[in-house]
Amino acid sequence: MKPILIAHRGASGYLPEHTLPAVVAAHTMGADYIEQDIVLSRDGVPLVLHDIYLETTTDVARLFPGRQRQDGRFYAIDFDLHEIKTLSVRERTTADGKAVFPDRFPVVDMALRIPTLAEEITLISGLNQSRGTQTGYYVEMKAPAFHQAAGQDIAGITLDTLEQAGLNTKAAPVFLQCFDPNTLRYLKDELRTPLPLIQLVGENGWSDPPGVDFQMMRSELGLDEVARYADGIGPWIPQLFEKDGMTPSRLVRAAHDRNLLVHTYTLRADSLEAGFEDFEALQAGVFSEAKVDGAFSDFPDLTRRFIDNIQRRSD
Ligand code: CA
Repeated sequence: MKPILIAHRGASGYLPEHTLPAVVAAHTMGADYIEQDIVLSRDGVPLVLHDIYLETTTDVARLFPGRQRQDGRFYAIDFDLHEIKTLSVRERTTADGKAVFPDRFPVVDMALRIPTLAEEITLISGLNQSRGTQTGYYVEMKAPAFHQAAGQDIAGITLDTLEQAGLNTKAAPVFLQCFDPNTLRYLKDELRTPLPLIQLVGENGWSDPPGVDFQMMRSELGLDEVARYADGIGPWIPQLFEKDGMTPSRLVRAAHDRNLLVHTYTLRADSLEAGFEDFEALQAGVFSEAKVDGAFSDFPDLTRRFIDNIQRRSD
């Protein structure tokens, strides 16, 4: 099977992440799926936004001075949609305003808006019609416990939006992903979605979500448990390899033994994992050595070309 290409936050290597231009670019670069990270507004609207706060990718601090919490952050859940729609999205910056990826798109105001999930579905389904494609949706629910503490059911609301678009069906080109195993169990057992569920795998040191033991999750016993509720796992690239950074670890085989898909994150041409001398070598390691079923890429055109070339070589 040909591995799938998931455009990570759109074509985020080229345009500000999760903006509609980045989605259009990813679509035309031939992504199989485009990723949506979901965070809710105060009035409960699913937004396509990576962080639960707004200052890292927008001008919220300038437009809404005083609306930050004690920790200095401007949380999306403290703003209604009509306020969020006044913000301009730009390239991701650090706390002191420096570009996180200095060689990417410049940090400039182009009056780009944070899309809602519904708006992004309208765009992608429109492009699927006009371009004759079936590009899919790869939807991550961010920080469900944080949303629950604010009285919001992010999984239920996200699924409602997909349902209204006719996308909560077995045939729909949609994956649901989450770091929180409780949310995936809830989606399967209580919300009874037929959509495939991907358990994202982090590291215990990240403490996100708190209390989830990812070391255990990657063990044989842990994967037995994941296979009870999920259809696949989403490990980050270093987990695919031994400490030397290049010999494949047991993880992919152990997942495949349990019929779990493996979709890894994140291929970045301008931020290589240790042990790989260039982007081609990294992609060869991930697709040809580790043999994953798919990968998130910030550079969908480069990953499209790589996947199509391995396919040609094996034909
Ligand atoms: Ca994500």
